[in-house]
This record gives sequence, C-alpha cells and structure tokens, in this order.
Amino acid sequence: MVNYKRVRALIALDVLENNIKEIKKHIPHETKIAGVIKADGYGHGDIPVAKTLENLVDFYAVSTLNEALNLYYHNLYKPILVLGPLPGDDYRELVENNIRATVFTLKQALSISNEAKKQSRIAYIHIAVDTGMNRIGIKDNENGAKLVKQIHDLDYIQVEGIFTHMYAADESNTDSAYAQLRRFKKFLFLLKKQGIEPRIKHISNSAAIIRNIGDTYDMVRAGIIMYGISPSDETGVGNMDIKPILSVKSMITYVKYIEKGETVSYGGVYKADKRVRVATIPIGYGDGYPRSLSNKGYVLINGKRAYILGRVCMDQMMVDVSCIPDADIGTEVTVIGRDGSEFISVEALAKLCDKFPYELVCDLSKRIPRIYT
Ligand code: PLP
Repeated sequence: MVNYKRVRALIALDVLENNIKEIKKHIPHETKIAGVIKADGYGHGDIPVAKTLENLVDFYAVSTLNEALNLYYHNLYKPILVLGPLPGDDYRELVENNIRATVFTLKQALSISNEAKKQSRIAYIHIAVDTGMNRIGIKDNENGAKLVKQIHDLDYIQVEGIFTHMYAADESNTDSAYAQLRRFKKFLFLLKKQGIEPRIKHISNSAAIIRNIGDTYDMVRAGIIMYGISPSDETGVGNMDIKPILSVKSMITYVKYIEKGETVSYGGVYKADKRVRVATIPIGYGDGYPRSLSNKGYVLINGKRAYILGRVCMDQMMVDVSCIPDADIGTEVTVIGRDGSEFISVEALAKLCDKFPYELVCDLSKRIPRIYT
C-alpha cells in the first residue's frame, strides 16, 4: 500500500480543466489546442492529465516516442505529436499507432515514408521550422522551402502540420517573438507559392498564448500555463483566471529543542544563536526538493513560515518552529501550496533557489505519490 503521509503531491484536476477552459476563452474560437504533456505532464503525471484534457484539447504534444506510446497504450487516442527529434530509424510503432513525428530532415522523412509504405498507410507528420531558436528545424529560407517540397512529395507522407518554436516570448521585450512570427509567415508564403499549405500551422507556447502572439494560426501548444504556472514574471498569467494545480504536503516527524551553540544537519552550517525548537520534515533532495534551499527555504505549518535550518538532506530536513508552539509530531506541513493566508508558489520557490519553475516541477521525484483530486 502506498503511504501518502510522508510526502504527497496533490493535483487538482478540476483546476486543470478550468485552466484549459480559460485558455480556450482567451484564444480565437477556431484555434485548436495541443496540450503539452511531455516529461510526465511537467511532473504532474501524464496519464491523469491527458485523461482530464481528453475532451478539451485537439492534440497531445509530448517529446519522445516512449511518451507518445505510453499515452497510446493507455487508450488515449487523441492525435499525438512528438515535438522532439526521434533518434534511430525504427518508425514501426510510430506509424502503426498514427503518432505524428516532428520532421526536419529528408532522411527521416524517407524512413518514415518507407515504413508507411510497408504498412500500406499514410504517415502524418509535422515539419519543424527554425525561425531563430536554432535547436531543431528546417531553416526558413529558399533551400528550406525546397526541402519541405521534397518531403511533401513523398508518396506515403502527409504534411499535416508545420510549426516553429518561440525562444523568448516570455521576456519583457517581445521583438524577437514578433520577428519569429514574421519569419514563419514569410516561410509559409514561400511554401504556398509551391502549392504547399499544411492544414495545421502552429507557433504559440504559453507565453505567446498569454500575449496573444501567433494564436490566430490553426493551433497553440499550451504547456506550463495549463498547470497554473506562469512562464515568467514578465508574462505572469495575463488576464486569465489561471490557478496552480499542484500542492505538496508533508508532516512533522520529530520535534525537539536545541541549545545555543548547537548545529543542525550535515556540515554544521547552521549554528543556533539561542534556544531553538526544531521540527524534522521527511522530505529532501531525493524527492526533488532542492538542496540549494538549505538555510534559505521555508515551509508552512499552521499558516506560518518555518525556515529551513542547515542543509537539506536526501530524505529529511529540519525547520525552525520556535514561533509555532502548536507544531508537533503529525502536524501537516505545506511544502508547495496554500496554508491559511500564506502561499508558496512554484514560481516563488524556484526563484528562491535560482531554479526555473519548469525544472522544479519536472524534478519532483517519482518517490512522491501523486494524489488526484
Ligand atoms: N512547444 C514546444 C516545441 C516546446 O518545446 C514546448 C516546451 O518547452 C512547448 C511548446 C510548451 O511550452 P510552454 O510550457 O512554455 O507552454
């Protein structure tokens, strides 16, 4: 039996549903949504997230073939787009299960086409265009357009979609985002001149959705914002009623006093300058709680902040409960989320330890059981 007492991640699927509905209200009515659920749904659990989104999104977007197959084998049959490259050249399962690959080389397109021929099927693909991110994608120039034509003309391939990815739509200066938008538009025009117009053109990630940049194309790809986390301080969540879906709770396992001059945890980097009441919490960096929050971070206990004393261990950490007299063994601890009027957001916690909010949620380890509410 799973023990939820030590640490648990509570994921509010009704809030997730509401977030997606808010995104829908914010973008043009006819624009499709791809729910980005790569990296195990940004650490929230791809299957429960995908099930919640099933009737609300048009596509699932993941990063790897394994992630795509995992959805497929859980009977989630919305079109699945693999946004990342597909190393190797075994496309049997991809084609068999109608999973859309992101394609940006002729070699890859040929291999997929050959596999589709073998299976007497058409393989649907999306072309990645590089408009400045310089990660993957066909260059947005005349040669790139010729390459798309070659791919487009393959017998067993249908270019269902074409997309590019914004690299700085979350910054205060949106010039590069608009420049990418213009480059994408120009490239689509080059393709149109060759008689190519993929049905689903898409560019916007969460930051671009918030700022309504590129959302008049056929689809947007919503990731972090679905989970109620803002892409950056600069964007926030705009004027949408988006709320966090994750909280992480634990409990106090031990309480004691230490005397002035005593140290706490590895390295003795915290030394008490007075008598201190110390509580032990059974969460550590083995759960994905950043060790860099040593002597810095805090949790919430009975609506009050309890600061971390000394180093965060792999499985435990200690906090100061001198000012929380009712904190005792068994008292609930909020690591992420709300307790009374206090709130620890993913964004605030990430900032405190110099992490990226996306990274913080992806890092929450599998050891933390997820509870879906
Ligand atoms: N599209 C692509 C190609 C991505 O790599 C990502 C995530 O990094 C997204 C969309 C979703 O981005 P976000 O989570 O900022 O919405």
